[in-house]
Amino acid sequence: MLDSSLITSLTDLLGADQVLTSDEQVADRRHDYWVLSHLRSWAGVFTGRPGAVVRPQSTQEVQAIMRLASKTNTAVVPFGLGSGVCGGVQPDQSVLLLDLSMLNQIHAIDEVNLTATFAAGVNGLVAEEAVAAKGLTIGHWPQSIAVSTVGGWVSTRAAGQFSTAYGNIEDMVYSLEVVLPSGELVTLGCAPRAAAGPDLRHLFLGAEGVMGVVTSVTLALHRQAEQRTYRVFHTPSLAAGLEAQRLIMQAGWMPPVVRQYDARETRRNFKEWSVKGDGMLMMVHEGPAGRVAAEVEAVDALAAECGLTRADDQVAAHWMENRNHVPSWEELFDQGLVVDTIEISGSWTTIEAIYDQAIADVSALEGVVAVSAHSSHAYRTGVNLYFTFAGVSDDPQVLESIYLACWHAVMEATAAHDGGVAHHHGIGRVRKNYLVHDLGETGVALLRTVKNAVDPQGLMNPGNLLPDA
Ligand SMILES: Cc1cc2nc3c(=O)[nH]c(=O)nc-3n(C[C@H](O)[C@H](O)[C@H](O)COP(=O)(O)OP(=O)(O)OC[C@H]3O[C@@H](n4cnc5c(N)ncnc54)[C@H](O)[C@@H]3O)c2cc1C
Repeated sequence: MLDSSLITSLTDLLGADQVLTSDEQVADRRHDYWVLSHLRSWAGVFTGRPGAVVRPQSTQEVQAIMRLASKTNTAVVPFGLGSGVCGGVQPDQSVLLLDLSMLNQIHAIDEVNLTATFAAGVNGLVAEEAVAAKGLTIGHWPQSIAVSTVGGWVSTRAAGQFSTAYGNIEDMVYSLEVVLPSGELVTLGCAPRAAAGPDLRHLFLGAEGVMGVVTSVTLALHRQAEQRTYRVFHTPSLAAGLEAQRLIMQAGWMPPVVRQYDARETRRNFKEWSVKGDGMLMMVHEGPAGRVAAEVEAVDALAAECGLTRADDQVAAHWMENRNHVPSWEELFDQGLVVDTIEISGSWTTIEAIYDQAIADVSALEGVVAVSAHSSHAYRTGVNLYFTFAGVSDDPQVLESIYLACWHAVMEATAAHDGGVAHHHGIGRVRKNYLVHDLGETGVALLRTVKNAVDPQGLMNPGNLLPDA
């Protein structure tokens, strides 16, 4: 329970409109989009809520809130738009939830240096539309673009669908303004590149609210592409498609979108265009017209070399139109189903083994009715996989067990073949006990040491990201 004197101080500071305390007012900020929080809420076993929600409108207000929190030893959970899918937001009554969605000013768009500065709570689509009006693009298109914030992207180390050419969020961040748990302000990044000691921006890229509050983000932009075109291929096997992707990436081509679907997902998503038993590889090419033409020609040749055949490019247009659907978990629970996705990554030489083991192990679990995967982000060194699974039971407790078993199987299969357990959704609560697979015991201890140094009182988002001590 939060102290009433703290609520009074916050109300004096921000005004009553910006301090929310009733059940009704805080209802849609009780947790993020993590399936398990939704399932527990739906089943009535999770009834938690933050003690209060504050809605600052400026960096100075965030600083003042953090000073108050520090003085009163109050835990604080930053909140963008709550689209995180790993359980990064799960406050209880002792927590002050810092809703950043009113910190939503577009500070500057610099058309010469190609940067734009956004307050952390700017909605992703609003940010992209603001730069698009000037012929520019951020190039960051997570499926959740319309329901996430710029500060949330930074805090979860997000990746957009066009990442292969434009990069992931860490490639776009020019500078960050952060309020530390003490209330002090730090700005990190002031030039296109620096050799000025370790890059401290990375303390906050993927920190998921445990290090401080990102209040402003300057992103490096691109001019909008002159041309866009699509290429889609049938893949006779997963291996053939992966080999084509490897050759394309290592030859230096950069189609912004490179997605390969296994046979099950091809049938599910693109039935009318699919060939029985085959998967699909889809690319969106964009950039200067001359480069796009050269890239398409080279990709056609490399795909043919790997035994891929041309499919209808309409598939990519269809995907472009339908790609940003946000599912309702509750509709699935009503049908006795739990569905989720898990993204991991691996090198070119390990990714198939991860796929094979994860599919086999998840399929073998009781209650699982479907598991499949696609890749959506390709690199010179490897690729990600994005598994989708579904479990069925009329008992919510059994659904939860199936859910956790699926996650465990994919995490262990990934680690068994030296893959990375989190490609872009972050760690949150669902993955914190698997963080050790990526960092090792010493790495986890180092992260804990850094966290304790930045946040000695342990105020920021307790219980998130780091495994319990
Ligand atoms: C349908 C759907 C599709 C998705 N597709 C993608 C995708 O394509 N790519 C991708 O990367 N992710 C995707 N996500 C996940 C999610 O949208 C991202 O993680 C997003 O970056 C979260 O932004 P948010 O503003 O909603 O953050 P929230 O969910 O509010 O918060 C996420 C975490 O960051 C912390 N946090 C938020 N803002 C700040 C801040 N300003 N300072 C400090 N900490 C902060 C929170 O405490 C929490 O731990 C998807 C989610 C959904 C529901």
